[in-house]
Amino acid sequence: MNIAHLLLGSSQEFRDLPALARGTSPYLSYRDLWRKVAVMSTHLQVRFGLQRGDRVAFAMTNCVEAIEVMYAIWHAGLSAVPMNAKLHAKEMAFILENSGARLCFVTPDLAGTIAEAAREAPELREIVDTTTRAYSFMGVGDPSPMADAEPTDPAWLFYTSGTTGRPKGATLTHRNLLAMTLNYFADVDRPPPGGSIVHAAPISHGSGLWNFPMLARGSVQVFPESGKYEVPETVELMNRWPECSIFLAPTMVKRLVEHGSAADLRPGALRLITYGGAPMYVSDLKRAMELLGNVLTQLYGQGESPMTITHLSREFHAERDHPRWEARLASAGIADTCMEVRVVDEDGRQVPTGEVGEIICKGDPVMSGYWNNPEATARSLRNGWLWTGDVGAFDEEGFLTLKDRSKDMIISGGSNIYPREIEDVLNLHPAVAECSVVGRPHPEWGEEVVAFIVPRQGANVKPAELDKLCLDNIARFKRPKDYKFLDALPKNNYGKILKTELRTKL
Ligand code: AMP
Repeated sequence: MNIAHLLLGSSQEFRDLPALARGTSPYLSYRDLWRKVAVMSTHLQVRFGLQRGDRVAFAMTNCVEAIEVMYAIWHAGLSAVPMNAKLHAKEMAFILENSGARLCFVTPDLAGTIAEAAREAPELREIVDTTTRAYSFMGVGDPSPMADAEPTDPAWLFYTSGTTGRPKGATLTHRNLLAMTLNYFADVDRPPPGGSIVHAAPISHGSGLWNFPMLARGSVQVFPESGKYEVPETVELMNRWPECSIFLAPTMVKRLVEHGSAADLRPGALRLITYGGAPMYVSDLKRAMELLGNVLTQLYGQGESPMTITHLSREFHAERDHPRWEARLASAGIADTCMEVRVVDEDGRQVPTGEVGEIICKGDPVMSGYWNNPEATARSLRNGWLWTGDVGAFDEEGFLTLKDRSKDMIISGGSNIYPREIEDVLNLHPAVAECSVVGRPHPEWGEEVVAFIVPRQGANVKPAELDKLCLDNIARFKRPKDYKFLDALPKNNYGKILKTELRTKL
C-alpha cells in the first residue's frame, strides 16, 4: 500500500475538515489537500520526468508546503528525502549526493544553502523554491491517479542525526510507516477527528513522523508562522486549536515548563505531549507533570525504527501510588504492540532480567537498511533484528530502562558507569541548567568520570556541592572526579548533545 493512501482515506472521511493551518488560520481542507497533491504529482511525473523510486529531497523550515510536497512525492510513487533545515551546506550536499536526489524543494531562507550544496550533488537537476511561481504552478492542472507502491518500496530516507560521523539514510518503506502509524493508535493515542497537532519540532525528523497518525485521523496540522519553536507562539496555538497534540524533545518540554507563558495554557487545551528522542530526567518530568497535568507520554524509537520501540503511556505516568512509580518514570516503558524487544550480550544471547546489555528489536516498523551503505546495514540488521546501539535493562514487569548509547558508557576500574544515571543526580541541583557526563582516559582506571555543567543564569555552583549531591545519591565510584563549567553544551541540529565534542574539551 502507498502511504499516500492515508490522505485519500481522510479526504473521503473528513473532506471539509481543515487538514493544514498556518498559525491560527486554516489553510487547506482534506479534500483540497488531496486534490492539490494529486495535481502536484502530475507535475512531478510529467514536468520533472520523475519515475517510480526516484528520490526527491526537501530542505524547509516548518511550513504547510512541507506536507504538500511529501504527499505529492508519495502520490507519484517517489521517495522523500527530508533534510533538517539547520544542516550545514556540506551536510546537505552529502545527503543530496548519497541519496541521488533528482529534485529538491526549498523554502527561500535555505535557497542559498541548497544552491551551494547542489555543486557537489551531480544528480540533482532542479531546485524549486516554495515561494516562486514554479511552485504555485505545480498546483495547476489535472490530477493523476495515485501511483502503485509495493509495501517494500522506500518512502522516506531518514538521515540519522550523525552524532558520531557521517549521517546514514535509514530507508523507511511504505510498510514501515504504516506499521508505525498503526502502532501509534495501539499504544499512544487515537486522536479525535477535528483534533490538532502543532509542529514545533522539525518536520524533517521527529514531528514529521507524527503527521501520519494525525492526518489519518482527520486532525489539522498546524505550522507556527515563525517556523520554529517559540514558547509563547506555541502556547497561543495550543489554546487556539482543539484537542492539541504535540511532539517535543525533552529539552523543549523543559523550555515550556520554565517559560512564564506556560501559565497561559487554557485548562484542557492540551490533549497530549509525546516526548522522546533523548533522555528525560525524572526531576524535569515531575515538574512538567505538576504544571501540565497528566498529558505526557514517552516514546523510545530511532530513525531506524521510528517512534516505535517502547512507550510509557499516560496511564503509567499517572499511577503515583504504584510502588515502582519513580522507577517507571525513569524508564522508557514497555515494548510496543508491533515490536519484539530484547536485551542481549555481544553474541545476541538474551541476558537475564535486570542485567544490562544492548537493546535489539524486530518488527514491521524496522527499516529495510541504510541507503547505499551495505556495510552499515550488515552491522545494524542481523537476522532480522535491529541492533539499536542503545544499552538498557528490563525489569521484572517488562519496563525497559535505557542506560545510554553503548559508545557513551564509561568503564572505570572494570565497572560500567552509565552517564545518564549521574546526569539524573546532577540535574537535581537547583543551580544546574544542563549537564553532560563523559569518560576521560585514566592511566590506572581506564577511564574516569568528568561532568560538564551549565549553571543557571546568575547562579554559582561549587564542585563540592555537586560532589555531596552525588555522594548522597549514587555509589562513590560513579561520582565525577572533575567538573568543568560551560556557558552551553555543544548540540547538533536536532538538539542532541555532542559528547564527541565534549571529549575534545577534556
Ligand atoms: P534518532 O535516530 O536521531 O531519532 O535518535 C535515536 C536515539 O535517541 C535512540 O537510539 C536513543 O539513544 C535516543 N532516544 C530516543 N528516544 C529516547 C527516549 N525515550 N529516552 C532516551 N533516549 C532516547
